[in-house]
Amino acid sequence: MSNEKVILVTGGSGLVGKAIEWVIENDNGKYGKQEGEKWIFLTSKDGDLRSAEATRAIFEKYKPTHVIHLAALVGGLFKNMKYKLDFLRDNLLINDNILHTAHEHKVKKVVSCLSTCVFPDKTTYPIDETMIHNGPPHESNFGYAYAKRLIDTQNKAYHDQFGDHFTSVIPTNVFGPHDNYDLQDSHVIPGLVHKCYLAKKNGTPFAVAGTGKPLRQFIYSRDLAKLFVWVLREYEEIDPIILSVGEKDEVSIKDVADAIVKSVGFEGDYTFDTSKADGQYKKTASNAKLMKYLPDFQFTPFEVAVKESTEWFIQNYDSARTGNH
Ligand code: NAP
Ligand code: GDP
Repeated sequence: MSNEKVILVTGGSGLVGKAIEWVIENDNGKYGKQEGEKWIFLTSKDGDLRSAEATRAIFEKYKPTHVIHLAALVGGLFKNMKYKLDFLRDNLLINDNILHTAHEHKVKKVVSCLSTCVFPDKTTYPIDETMIHNGPPHESNFGYAYAKRLIDTQNKAYHDQFGDHFTSVIPTNVFGPHDNYDLQDSHVIPGLVHKCYLAKKNGTPFAVAGTGKPLRQFIYSRDLAKLFVWVLREYEEIDPIILSVGEKDEVSIKDVADAIVKSVGFEGDYTFDTSKADGQYKKTASNAKLMKYLPDFQFTPFEVAVKESTEWFIQNYDSARTGNH
């Protein structure tokens, strides 16, 4: 029997999927491609994972031994507020199809992706991996949050009933090359990079939504990608692990706007549009569990990562997801 690992990455064309592909192809150290590994990166063109039939056809075609499950309906605060039912249903369907088909195909390991949005809104800080189901999530994104929480519940059920090795990771806010830079529906960093770029190019005002006071921990997609590869190869637990920079690296949305202004080279003033929502004030997460496993992991400094993401956006303006095409 072949010992080849066939690793299927769902959502391979997205922010995180593209970063994993980049690390697999470019890292010369321990995170790059290893002998005996075959990586397959899916896009929605390979099949709509909300359909059980399409999902089965993909598994029959590639016969994966391992799965990194990233595909999801994803969006920033404002998209989450608009489409709560879509976030709940699409993600429930996609996740159930992937986990159940992986079970039927006797896949050896599945690593799925949660988010720090899944944690209870009213909580003590820092948040850790044991607190996912402790209380209702924030009102703004409860559809997405409940769908994601159920991945953790399903992982435990597949393990307890069948011994399947299905686990999950919990990244904090992610950004980087290949992000969704749409002006309305994106997350804060790509949204503000695009807005600031237009303000500089066209001499138009640059407005940051909300008060600028909320706090977030951001992880660069290429750092997250390395951690995903490590989880796939070495993390044995079924319980999730938070993948994040430390609590001391939490920044305010104003800090984010300042870093973006610097990296874009915008010289005008900017304002806060306080008629727009702030969302959750903070969701400060502990990376103590990760640091116990990988005490020497080096995160890319925030300003360097913002610079690389901004440069990627400017160089790829015509093909990036900007909502223009
Ligand atoms: P993204 O850039 O929006 O990419 C989403 C990916 O999912 C794309 O490859 C997309 O394919 C695919 N997809 C969406 N709906 C699909 C469907 N019905 N059938 C098949 N494929 C589908 O998202 P991302 O930021 O990389 O997110 C990846 C994972 O990380 C998600 O599980 C997300 O919840 C999680 N996460 C993200 C963040 C963040 O800040 N971005 C934070 C925490 C966790 P197409 O390109 O073909 O449309
Ligand atoms: P969240 O962590 O799930 O809330 O994800 P976001 O990436 O959407 O971050 C939202 C925070 O950034 C909120 O406090 C918003 O008010 C603030 N923000 C400021 N400008 C923007 C913007 O252009 N887009 C988004 N999505 N958020 C913005």
